[in-house]
Amino acid sequence: MIEARNLVKSFEQTRALDGLTLTVPDGAVYGLVGPNGAGKSTLIRHLTGIYRQDEGELLINGEPVYENPAVKKTIAGIPDEIPYWSQATVDDMMRFYASVYPGFDRPYYENLGKALELDGKRMMRKLSKGQQKMAAFRFALAQRPDILVLDEPLDGLDPVNRRTVWGLILGDVAERGTSVLVSSHNLRELEDVCDHVGIMNRGKMLLERSLSELQENMVKIQLVLPDGAELPESLNVLHEGQTGRVRQLILRGRAEELSAEIAACEPLFMDMLPLTLEEIFIYELGGMEHEIKSLVL
Ligand code: ADP
Ligand code: MG
Repeated sequence: MIEARNLVKSFEQTRALDGLTLTVPDGAVYGLVGPNGAGKSTLIRHLTGIYRQDEGELLINGEPVYENPAVKKTIAGIPDEIPYWSQATVDDMMRFYASVYPGFDRPYYENLGKALELDGKRMMRKLSKGQQKMAAFRFALAQRPDILVLDEPLDGLDPVNRRTVWGLILGDVAERGTSVLVSSHNLRELEDVCDHVGIMNRGKMLLERSLSELQENMVKIQLVLPDGAELPESLNVLHEGQTGRVRQLILRGRAEELSAEIAACEPLFMDMLPLTLEEIFIYELGGMEHEIKSLVL
């Protein structure tokens, strides 16, 4: 489990993290979403042990991260800028990671080459941004980490490689129970894969939710009511639309209770649909600054 409590980090004038709170349960695929400058990379650099916070706590399984090699060995990260030496080939970097991480799984690394094909003799600096990311994925996954921390990992990848990479990550989660923290400036990139989402802005967590918790508390209903029938006033309607005679409602509440309540109006037709993560956040963020909504959605 990753826990940040009241994390503060300032750079001269900027408070990059301003009392950030975050909880990533074991085995979660946690999407950290926020506009550029929100503080995502700064948080991730604390998790990978590069920065030490000015205030607050950052714990992994109850242990502080900074200058704690035992904890750092369990984490693999893909930073926003992939590090390498100017003369290094892909194989040189692989040998570096193998020497630093005792658990580095060389056969697995080779095997990952089937999905993420790269000539090991090529210079890192001559690879495209997307190819560098693919190399970084192989380095990170081959460390066999308990926690994977990915800073905007999809940037620069084409749709085919995106799918490949997600397949590998989710396979790792299913097989080994890896926890994943992945950042993005766009919720849409993460909605199909994450089961937890945190939205941050200006160094603070605005909203942190699990998908199951969200889906249990919001439903989309399509219905046709008989002429003259009215919906119960007790319904908490977040959004309403109509196409011909079909009304579409987004309601807060649990599906079974809402369907019983609506059934009392004897609808001619009723269908309940699950909401996508994106739809949920549009309504969850309803009361928030328009600026943030338009930035992350
Ligand atoms: P994100 O990754 O969400 O785009 P960052 O964590 O990179 O955001 O940045 C958060 C804020 O902190 C920004 O205002 C950025 O300019 C500032 N910042 C980040 N790193 C540094 C640094 N090393 N020196 C000065 N300011 C920084
Ligand atoms: Mg960043």
